[in-house]
Amino acid sequence: MDFELTDDQREIQALAREFAQAEIEPNAADWDRAHGFPRELIGRLAELGFTGVCIPEEYGGAGADFLSYILVLEELSRADAGVGVTVAVHTSAVTLPILTFGSDEQRARFVPPLARGEAVGAFALTEPEAGSDAGSLRTSATPNGNGWTISGAKQWITNGGFGGTILLFARTDPETPGAKGVSAFILDGSAVTVTREEEKLGLNSSSTVDLVLEDALADRDRLLGDIFAQSFFNEARVDMRSVIRSDYEINVLRHVRFALYSCVENSLVKRVLCKIDDRISYATH
Ligand SMILES: Cc1cc2nc3c(=O)[nH]c(=O)nc-3n(C[C@H](O)[C@H](O)[C@H](O)COP(=O)(O)OP(=O)(O)OC[C@H]3O[C@@H](n4cnc5c(N)ncnc54)[C@H](O)[C@@H]3O)c2cc1C
Repeated sequence: MDFELTDDQREIQALAREFAQAEIEPNAADWDRAHGFPRELIGRLAELGFTGVCIPEEYGGAGADFLSYILVLEELSRADAGVGVTVAVHTSAVTLPILTFGSDEQRARFVPPLARGEAVGAFALTEPEAGSDAGSLRTSATPNGNGWTISGAKQWITNGGFGGTILLFARTDPETPGAKGVSAFILDGSAVTVTREEEKLGLNSSSTVDLVLEDALADRDRLLGDIFAQSFFNEARVDMRSVIRSDYEINVLRHVRFALYSCVENSLVKRVLCKIDDRISYATH
């Protein structure tokens, strides 16, 4: 098996690295302190095709493969993991599921604006009482003749305040417990109200909000296929965790290293410190 990157993959990796070093890294500390995502960055990411790296060209994307997309995420996250999360949620949790599970009409209507960065994607599954156990969510979608009326509250929604395209999960079958009674809807940002911006301990340049829906109307064509919600949530989480965990792990290691350097001076501790330094250097270069 050939594990080498292709020329195209190397090229896109170099482009992403150059961009991240020039336009993200120098600003990362300011964005972190400001606790906000710089919206104008979406335009720059879109110009380079990074809002739709692995989306086919016919849907407005750059038409590269999935590994190229991961390489781009890696470079963006190296400069600022909050930017990496923003693009990962937008692509893996919104654009790709619509491309995979949407009807022809839904693909043609919703994917190109996302791939071109004209709309930012948000994925609204988590609720105050439904985190890991996503299937216990309470947001309800009730049939109203023309489609659905949706009411409920969502929590921890990355990009949820950007007014873009929201892939939102609601219970369509109150009689069926768990994920099988849940469906996904493609909503416009105007369907939700942002009630709070989350105060996080890290990834501060990514925006994470609470949302409410009060009798929001969704036409019939807003229902995303007939899907089993948990299956693609699990897939999307793999991409996001690879970004989030690496960031947290490195920050934790840096704090441990600092504490050890500050407090103790002996040869055993120094050997542990060397191991930690090796791990940080391996993970960040
Ligand atoms: C930065 C950030 C961005 C996010 N963005 C989004 C987003 O865009 N959209 C979205 O829908 N959600 C988002 N989330 C929410 C995220 O998906 C949830 O935090 C996650 O699903 C866990 O839910 P919880 O926080 O309620 O934790 P809980 O479910 O309360 O879990 C707390 C801890 O208990 C453990 N645990 C839970 N159940 C069990 C069990 N049965 N057995 C053993 N251990 C268990 C968990 O592993 C975890 O360590 C985001 C979260 C963060 C931190």
